[in-house]
Amino acid sequence: MSFRIVTTNWFRLTLPLLIVTFAMVCQNQIVELTYSNREIITSLPYALFIFTIVLAHAFKQSRIAMVSATMLLAYWVIQSRLQSPLSTGTTIFELSLLTLLMPISLLLVLSYRDASIFSKPFALYLFKLSIFFIWSWVTLSYIHEDGLDDLNNTFLFVWPSVSQLPFILVIFSLAMVLIFSIFLMSRNNIIDAVLYTTALLSSVTYAFIHITFISSTLFSLAGILLLLYLINASYELAFNDNLTDIPGRLALESDLRHLGKVFSIAMVDIDHFKSFNDSYGHETGDDVLKLVASKLQKVGKKARVYRYGGEEFTILFKGREVPDTLSELEELRAALEEYKMVIRNKDARPKNDKVGSKQRKTKAKSNTVNITISIGVADNLDFDTVAEVMKAADNALYKAKKTGRNKVCSA
Ligand code: GH3
Ligand code: MG
Ligand code: MG
Repeated sequence: MSFRIVTTNWFRLTLPLLIVTFAMVCQNQIVELTYSNREIITSLPYALFIFTIVLAHAFKQSRIAMVSATMLLAYWVIQSRLQSPLSTGTTIFELSLLTLLMPISLLLVLSYRDASIFSKPFALYLFKLSIFFIWSWVTLSYIHEDGLDDLNNTFLFVWPSVSQLPFILVIFSLAMVLIFSIFLMSRNNIIDAVLYTTALLSSVTYAFIHITFISSTLFSLAGILLLLYLINASYELAFNDNLTDIPGRLALESDLRHLGKVFSIAMVDIDHFKSFNDSYGHETGDDVLKLVASKLQKVGKKARVYRYGGEEFTILFKGREVPDTLSELEELRAALEEYKMVIRNKDARPKNDKVGSKQRKTKAKSNTVNITISIGVADNLDFDTVAEVMKAADNALYKAKKTGRNKVCSA
């Protein structure tokens, strides 16, 4: 947990850029190294992508497996079809097809949910990949080498000082990498980092395909990064709470081992949650837990929120005593109290549209509820151990419950 910087969107954005720059700068050394270990290095991407697919299956990260399968296929196409000079035969046309279809395939990955690789989504994705492959194959068999000249001189013209790749595809690749980087910066999910990295490294490969061994170098680096993201994903799986997708108990216990000199711990508990569950059902109760988790996360940047278990959450304030936390905690309590949660009872929703819209208008008000939370907070100034601070925060929470709920109490 102390290496949190590696999961920030800025880090995920710049690392692949630095790696590409480094590979381009050290071109000569890489070529030398590859010449002396040719067999191993050119087959390294295959090994890395297959290994990633197997691991992704074990961790139920089928979307990373989809990306690996796409990279595997692209690398095979490069190795088996694109090793002759671009000016010969249909090479440049084949490269153009690859440059076009690769980011589209990557974009398709976003429409799936994660599962194992023996699942319908993964099979469906492979099916789409093979459709692209077959379509390219058929297109190639219909295109005549001599007829390509027209296409190359018009639509697929090359601007040699930029890249050997048709200029329109350079623009397309740039636009796609930009789109993936926007996803990464705005959502920062691991799959966004995976897609951005592979789109960037493959695009650079296609744009500079004339450089010796560029595909084995950049695809190997992409494979290594994919493995790192996979480890990152499995780590998040273990440390994040499944329902609310915020850090869970394991993350809290890990963070409690790295506290500074001064810290405060707040225990948060939803009021009368049992009766809420009884009235609205467990599923709606789960929605409330997700809502409370997302509202609590609005706490200032220097605090971290965890789901402690059940309807209880913990907030850790490093470097702060209780008085420095009270206004923020009070804001959180008030924000939840004021928030009107809309109850969507799926079973009670009328099937007839007319009746439905009438009901929505008339019942709109009665379908909202308010949730309140009680908070107990303590710091380590009067206590020797973390366990004692936790106990004191728990006692303060008990005091808040006893004296009317919907309030913040300090130890
Ligand atoms: P108090 O104001 O004193 O905290 O009352 P309470 O009803 O919130 O507290 P109590 O500990 O009696 O009940 C907690 C309830 O939280 C019991 C359980 O049904 C519910 N709960 C715990 N975990 C989950 C969960 O994951 N999903 C849902 N829907 N409910 C949960
Ligand atoms: Mg409780
Ligand atoms: Mg409760």
